[in-house]
Amino acid sequence: MLKVAIVGATGIVGQQAIVSLTNHPWFQITKLAASARSAGKPYAEALREANGASRWWCPQELPPEIAQLTVEEATAFDPTSVDLIFSTLDAGVAKELEPKWARTTPVISTASAFRYEEDTPILVGGVNMDHTALIKVQQERRGWKGFVVPKSNCTISGLVVSLKPVLTHFGVKQVIVTSLQAMSGAGRSPGLSAMDMTENVIPYIPGEEPKVESEPLKILGTFNGQGITNAPFGITATCTRVPVLDGHLVVVFAQTEKTCTPEEVKEVMLDFGADFCRLGLPSSPPQLIAVTDDPFRPQPRMDRDRGDGMTVTVGRLRKDPILENGLKYVCLAHNTKLGAAKGAVQTAEYLVKYYLKWL
Ligand code: NAP
Repeated sequence: MLKVAIVGATGIVGQQAIVSLTNHPWFQITKLAASARSAGKPYAEALREANGASRWWCPQELPPEIAQLTVEEATAFDPTSVDLIFSTLDAGVAKELEPKWARTTPVISTASAFRYEEDTPILVGGVNMDHTALIKVQQERRGWKGFVVPKSNCTISGLVVSLKPVLTHFGVKQVIVTSLQAMSGAGRSPGLSAMDMTENVIPYIPGEEPKVESEPLKILGTFNGQGITNAPFGITATCTRVPVLDGHLVVVFAQTEKTCTPEEVKEVMLDFGADFCRLGLPSSPPQLIAVTDDPFRPQPRMDRDRGDGMTVTVGRLRKDPILENGLKYVCLAHNTKLGAAKGAVQTAEYLVKYYLKWL
């Protein structure tokens, strides 16, 4: 078993990482770390609020062996004590700590800190595994034995999976998206207030739209030997927060290069990722995209856990009446699973097997 740490273990994504790694066939959690506020306490204790309530929020029970692990302070964490680090920290502190750890140890991060560096791939299962070659460039350039590989922004995880087969088969000219993002996407420190979110929609998420407009172009871009050449189309986004616990819904209008029918798009989406799924990585779902013909789906409560939160559900696939070669659909992805923790575990599985070749 490979020894892994979760740094940022007390947060929403850190908790989901614990669930994703419980009974994992290759990885064993041996270390947990978070801020000074949590350090020195058994994990279950570190999750206690002042009033005694627990911040553990996953529907699965907290495994007793994890509940007892003492939380270390992230700034003092020894990266050589584990084989692999899952960093689920806030971006500011991740920017400072991840490069220190990467000198010796591979880091898979859900933070945005390194997503925009030229020598850093943003890997999304089945979409751009050829970008893995950029890790070697990063290691050579920075003199690191380890590396930093970030996950994408959670809002775009369903968008890039659904766009990739469209781009491959029909080309993409431009994309217009509106997101309806779940509350868990905002994290726990400090998190959102029930007073703000109940019976309400917030039409702005600070810092989100530039990420949604830029990251997909890198992920859907081409590895050029030294970096990534962005995919040659534009995205414009409006990001909103809605009173849903988990599951980001994204409304997509895409203009394709070639004419295509909704039936043809459905077919290429359903075929997409079969080779990647056949690799049989422990966290991969049986299919990357499910397409529903029910006009009332996808819905976050009903569809976010498809493929244990790793399958993107696409619905309302239809021709746009005013855009030339216009296509529109709605896609749903689980933001803390595919879009964060379980996606990070799947990336680690791929890298351990096909890049590090440890298995
Ligand atoms: P969160 O619930 O607010 O958790 C943040 C974690 O970082 C906690 O463990 C916290 O520890 C730790 N932390 C905060 N400041 C720290 C410091 N100065 N030093 C050490 N540790 C510190 O956030 P989250 O939603 O889990 O998100 C974690 C990361 O993943 C963020 O970068 C976020 O942008 C990204 N992300 C989130 C989602 C999502 O759906 N939530 C999806 C994709 C990516 P304490 O509890 O001890 O304070």
